[in-house]
Amino acid sequence: MQVPGQFEYERATSVEHAIGLLDRLGDTARLVAGGHSLLPMMKLRLANFDYLIDINDLHAELGHITVEPGRIRIGAMTRHRELLESPDLRQHFPIFADAERVIADPVVRNRGTLGGSLCQADPSEDLSAVCTTLGASCVIRGLDGERVVPMEDFHRGPYETAVGDAEMLTEVHFPLRPGGSSAYEKVERRAGDWAVVSAGAAVWLQNGVMTDARVGLAAVGPDTAGLPEISQALRGREPSEALYEEAGDIAARSCDPATDTRGSADYKRHLAKELTRRTLRKAVRRLEGRA
Ligand SMILES: Cc1cc2nc3c(=O)[nH]c(=O)nc-3n(C[C@H](O)[C@H](O)[C@H](O)COP(=O)(O)OP(=O)(O)OC[C@H]3O[C@@H](n4cnc5c(N)ncnc54)[C@H](O)[C@@H]3O)c2cc1C
Repeated sequence: MQVPGQFEYERATSVEHAIGLLDRLGDTARLVAGGHSLLPMMKLRLANFDYLIDINDLHAELGHITVEPGRIRIGAMTRHRELLESPDLRQHFPIFADAERVIADPVVRNRGTLGGSLCQADPSEDLSAVCTTLGASCVIRGLDGERVVPMEDFHRGPYETAVGDAEMLTEVHFPLRPGGSSAYEKVERRAGDWAVVSAGAAVWLQNGVMTDARVGLAAVGPDTAGLPEISQALRGREPSEALYEEAGDIAARSCDPATDTRGSADYKRHLAKELTRRTLRKAVRRLEGRA
């Protein structure tokens, strides 16, 4: 039987309350959102905390998807299921529904949150790759107010983030630019499993030319990686199979996968290439109304 060590438990009633508790209890305390990453780690005794601060009552404050001119704001407590079912995200960022359809199962998706996914900072985390692909920024709140950290700087390494002591992630901001679409693909060993490799792509077209393109990969190195070299190679060029091939080559040589039970490093590089091609093609087809 897997049982966590003993801990004290308190439900936060506001963001300020949660931050105040984190400040008072220090690094013996952890926030619990959906609990789908933290609790398994505590059951396996990979993590032990004296206090858990439950932030589920903050869903009203942090569970929103808000479309504004120039950006979409998503609260940290927004659950996987809400990301999957949002008509606004389906319209502006179809990459979310693509990714959410292949994250875990309905039980996990009913509870797991955007904030918990990003703060867990697992290198195989799908939503981290989605946020990297979309060029998101993370709003971190502490005792002295808020700071905004771009996704590129949010993950400091596996299971480490820019969220400091007595701070929490409250929102993620996604820039909204006209003429764009996106897509996500994942190879998994069985339905609902973590990725062997996954890739997201976002493209923006004007007069048949790519004004911008971004690719993010998961499970191919210590961090979910954005690939700026692909953006540089694709900007100002017309979409074509040759261009997707070129982008796939960059993805394969830029990533740093490890051989493990999910597959060899060579196989994962092959997947990084293939999934980069497929997601770019799919995002462009969506823009052209062909997918
Ligand atoms: C069987 C199973 C399969 C899964 N498969 C996948 C998969 O295929 N792809 C995938 O991407 N994920 C997968 N997951 C993970 C799932 O997506 C989790 O929901 C997610 O990783 C964590 O979200 P959570 O809300 O449950 O976080 P929690 O477990 O509650 O928290 C995770 C960490 O984040 C911290 N935290 C939470 N919220 C905040 C906040 N607002 N500010 C600061 N710190 C915070 C916690 O203190 C903790 O350290 C799977 C999980 C399970 C159990």
